[in-house]
Amino acid sequence: MTNHGSQGFRKVAHPSPMPDPERIELIRNPGFGRAFSDHMVTITWTADRGWHEMTIGPRGPLSLSPAAAVLHYAQEIFEGLKAYRTSSGEITLFRPDMNARRFALSAERLAMPALPDNLFIESVEALTSIDRAWIPDGEGSLYLRPFMIATEPFLGVRPAAEYLYVVIASAVGPYFSGGKSTITVWVSEDYTRAAKGGTGAAKCGGNYAASLTAQAVASAEGCDQVLFLDSAEHRWIEELGGMNIFLVFEDGSLQTPPIGGTILPGITRDSLIRLAREEGRVVREEPYAFDQLKADVASGRLREAFACGTAAVISPIGKLKTTDGPIVIGDGNAGEVSLALKRKLVGIQRGDVPDSFGWLHKIA
Ligand SMILES: *Cc1c(COP(=O)(O)O)cnc(C)c1O
Repeated sequence: MTNHGSQGFRKVAHPSPMPDPERIELIRNPGFGRAFSDHMVTITWTADRGWHEMTIGPRGPLSLSPAAAVLHYAQEIFEGLKAYRTSSGEITLFRPDMNARRFALSAERLAMPALPDNLFIESVEALTSIDRAWIPDGEGSLYLRPFMIATEPFLGVRPAAEYLYVVIASAVGPYFSGGKSTITVWVSEDYTRAAKGGTGAAKCGGNYAASLTAQAVASAEGCDQVLFLDSAEHRWIEELGGMNIFLVFEDGSLQTPPIGGTILPGITRDSLIRLAREEGRVVREEPYAFDQLKADVASGRLREAFACGTAAVISPIGKLKTTDGPIVIGDGNAGEVSLALKRKLVGIQRGDVPDSFGWLHKIA
């Protein structure tokens, strides 16, 4: 019987949390994904006991058998969401119910046990609450990283019978360093990220492992990110290694590739579609060919492009690069529509713009 966890977490006291002056210094300019908070959540799953041992305690190394299935067959999934301090000093999460749902769907695809949504939400609430001092002031936030790994020591190939769910947190600033106003994106014409029937819609580490060679090519080409085309025809725009993509046209409409198994259903993507439609914009969730993009850039019909995700929020794309050379989007600068949508989304997350969709989840 699965334990639904309404009894709360066992708390293990931290013997030596980071002293205030050190933490304050560390999170003043935290970068992305390096400044980890004091605590972590762990919950164990076994076939006979279900979810149990819900613990919140000092963050520290995990002890794993070298035969743990995750180390051999990559049975791993994760999530990413942020805790914000609003202008009025409240602490909020943004649509954590969506992360909980997606985590359960990723688990299903990777043949892992589903963590009940309420337990997922309780776990991120608990860590945010105990490490609230780690939320930077100003534009920073606390990035929460829930993940699940197969821990059973067994080298046979089948779904494992033991799992560990963990949540860690990291104080973060902007994802792209140097405060760039636009990013440059390499279009990969050989590597692909996901195929129909594969794991493209699941948030699993394996998808990222498979994207790193293409990302390394992008870096070598002087680009910040890689854009993948579909695996069947190498023709349709899909998404970046860890971000969805939107295109903005001269009539003010937007287009983004449809969710269909090979694209990660981003919560930022979903939120922006709703916000843009609320403003009266047309948003098409339809396939868009890379050749069409080139034609629309040449004709001036395509005005802006941006990447989006929790970590990077909205990152305007100034330029694409291919083996044939660069393609400048609009005038190469951050577009008006992209920036306005970013202001609105960040405004809602920070409590400065009315939350008309009820997306904010306050931490008591
Ligand atoms: C996490 C992720 C996104 C963005 O999803 P958000 O919910 O908006 O953070 C996009 N693409 C990939 C491949 C991802 O892993």
